[in-house]
Amino acid sequence: MYLMILTIFVLTIHSLTNAKYIVNRYDDIKCNLDTKLINEIASYKNVTRMIMDEIIANGHGHNMYQQYSNFIDTFGARPSGSDILEKSIDHMINLTIQNGLPTVQTEEVEVPLWVRGHESVAMIKPHPKNIAVIGLGSSVSTPPEGITAEVIVIRSFKELEKTDDNNIKGKIVLFDAHYITYGNTVRYRSQGASKASKKGAVASLIRSITPFSIYSPHTGAQFYEANVTKIPTAAITLEDADLLRRFQDQGEKIILNIKMFNIHGLKKSRNTIVDLKGKEYPEKFVIVSGHIDSWDVGQGAMDDGGGMIISWFAPVILNLLHLKPRRTVRAILWTSEEPGLIGAAAYLNKHINELSNINFIMESDEGTFSPQGLDVAGSNTARCIIAEILKLFSPVDKMTNSGGPGSDITLFVEKGIPGASLLNENERYFWFHHSEGDTMNVQNNVDVIDCAAFWAAISYVIADISIDIPRH
Ligand SMILES: [Zn+2]
Repeated sequence: MYLMILTIFVLTIHSLTNAKYIVNRYDDIKCNLDTKLINEIASYKNVTRMIMDEIIANGHGHNMYQQYSNFIDTFGARPSGSDILEKSIDHMINLTIQNGLPTVQTEEVEVPLWVRGHESVAMIKPHPKNIAVIGLGSSVSTPPEGITAEVIVIRSFKELEKTDDNNIKGKIVLFDAHYITYGNTVRYRSQGASKASKKGAVASLIRSITPFSIYSPHTGAQFYEANVTKIPTAAITLEDADLLRRFQDQGEKIILNIKMFNIHGLKKSRNTIVDLKGKEYPEKFVIVSGHIDSWDVGQGAMDDGGGMIISWFAPVILNLLHLKPRRTVRAILWTSEEPGLIGAAAYLNKHINELSNINFIMESDEGTFSPQGLDVAGSNTARCIIAEILKLFSPVDKMTNSGGPGSDITLFVEKGIPGASLLNENERYFWFHHSEGDTMNVQNNVDVIDCAAFWAAISYVIADISIDIPRH
């Protein structure tokens, strides 16, 4: 009882002062680690401090940030299947070698190409107005004259199901689902077109998957189910979704003309692999990763330029500092994440018989704002060991268990490989995500350098400790 009251009190204080911290920083796990292992982990304090000092205070992080900023400004958006993506991969290969690490290789992957052409949405009724629009990845085109049809605004899949097919047939469905969390709301983007098509819609639109907008439409992947008529699909802004909703509530008839022209195909791309070979177990890997491709809007600075660069930097800086962990630290720059984890799936397939060699897998693909800790998936013992390692990085020692950390690495975590994604102060991440707003202006050199320091140092400890991260 006392404990409960105290907990409530502490929680209240925390939520008043600093809502981002949780009281128990390692959620509910009960740990019973060997004292020897606890002492061994604690003995890494000096080396982790040295790695982080070299990166934060001695200029290595500054150099990395310059290389990152130069990369983003040189290549900008790097969509799957594009020549610019391949040039950006070549650049990272050269940069790795220039930074003194020749152990860089690529693995070929067949990836989808989807090139956005002209897109426009014109409101015809109740009055003429241009509606800002962005097509969703893999959407089919409209006929040249576009699709002109009445709009029905639907809040949820449940509401769609309940609506008589006759009220959907021949119409454009607008899914006006308000943002709750990304995981919860993104299904309207990925599945909306197929669900609307099954009810007879001729096109579908979504309210952009973001909690905030200054009239910015946000793109992203969508997937047609087999055997449904593929209808064009796109995102509009929160402002216009609200406007159309108000018109419908007032009983106004809404008519839009949608024009979208896209090119589809298949291309060759590459996953990029940078190894710092382990001195004792070179065949065992601690993988740090981010994706090098982006959507075709903005600069892909945040998603996932930041996560890609800090992951690439981990083996590079450890090598520059002449640190050789027992196991190999392998950075993977995944290709073609955005159309549906294509690069990661290819890597998994190619290495399916060697998965037992992956000791731990990490990913940064949810922002490189101020680092907070790790979202960890794995056995109780695995999580206890990571929690113990995180103590070295206090106050960057928060640990959560969302059940499915990361994006690309979910494929590996599902196979029982312990893994983690970077926790950071990314409350504003989805404001910019998959929009023209994802530029270098979203990034901050201090935060990205802090993330890089944490990422390199913790990957070193995990790769060097005497025991493997246990799967059970
Ligand atoms: Zn991403």
